[in-house]
Amino acid sequence: MGCKRRRPHDYSSTEIPEFFWEPGIVGGYREPGISVKESLVSIFELHNETLNIWTHLGALAFFLGYMCSTSSSLNLYSDVTLRPLLFMFLSSCLYSTTSVLAHTFNSMNELSQHVGFMIDYYGICVYAFVTAISNLSYAFPDSWRSTRVEQSFIVASFLSTLLAISLACKSRFPKFGLVCKLMRLLPFVLSYVISMSPLLYRVTMEYDAKDGTVHYYRHFIDAVFTFGFYSSHFPELAFPGYFNVYFHSHQIFHVFVALGTYFKLRGLMADYESGHTFIEIPNCTLLVSLAALTKALVTLYYIWTMRSVKKGKQSSLDHHHGYCNGNGNAHDSMAYNGVKKVN
Ligand SMILES: [Zn+2]
Repeated sequence: MGCKRRRPHDYSSTEIPEFFWEPGIVGGYREPGISVKESLVSIFELHNETLNIWTHLGALAFFLGYMCSTSSSLNLYSDVTLRPLLFMFLSSCLYSTTSVLAHTFNSMNELSQHVGFMIDYYGICVYAFVTAISNLSYAFPDSWRSTRVEQSFIVASFLSTLLAISLACKSRFPKFGLVCKLMRLLPFVLSYVISMSPLLYRVTMEYDAKDGTVHYYRHFIDAVFTFGFYSSHFPELAFPGYFNVYFHSHQIFHVFVALGTYFKLRGLMADYESGHTFIEIPNCTLLVSLAALTKALVTLYYIWTMRSVKKGKQSSLDHHHGYCNGNGNAHDSMAYNGVKKVN
């Protein structure tokens, strides 16, 4: 009704449904309800997701290039002793891709946002499990070998990443409200601590500048910043409105995640090349495939459940699409969805 269409990337938080809100980000939002095509075009436009997308697109290009350059000096694709390292490269590419997908399509509607981030968690959890496999193969502390720790390490890693994907997906459901952030963060921290425990032990108890530990040390310094920026929402929460588009915490978090992966890859390769004890994992490919498949089934289950929970709500969002008149009619949206966005 004479409604002038606005550019898709200049909406304030008062003009969009609450489930799109990010803490401390008060502007630069894309228009809610945009199509797949508009989402793809928006990759090349400036809004508060642009650098979230490009930081992990850049990481994806870097990991692919790094994998290719490594394969020119090592038999990455055919040497079975390098299979866990190959999976590390592939899973790094996987989590970068799922992150790009989540951040590109999360303005279509509430369902696309939740499904996108569930797929993002899937990428992270597969990567976490592959990290555990690689740590056992190349970087396990000598004093832990042939002990109960070695025997239970893969099982504990598998179960913790399965718990992480389940609780992270579950945390997207409205009924969990304010506890959702803890529900998402704590299982990821637990699976991180389990999969990285061999490296933590090496860095603190068996530090040797000649092998991979120097890179693992850098990784742990990086990890402090990674978790710090993700959980604090600094600087945008301290200075609302100043970091809507550039340098908000999630973009910085993405950069530290990619950097942490790079340090880990460097460390694993340094361990491999320095002759640190290699532990062969029988049926490594089968193990990774089974873990990836199990997590995919869990993710699909929650996506399916989410679809039925959200059924019928799309019409409400279509109603909101009408607020391109810029009246900032956000109160309707709060009334209809009741979901507090904590990403
Ligand atoms: Zn992200």
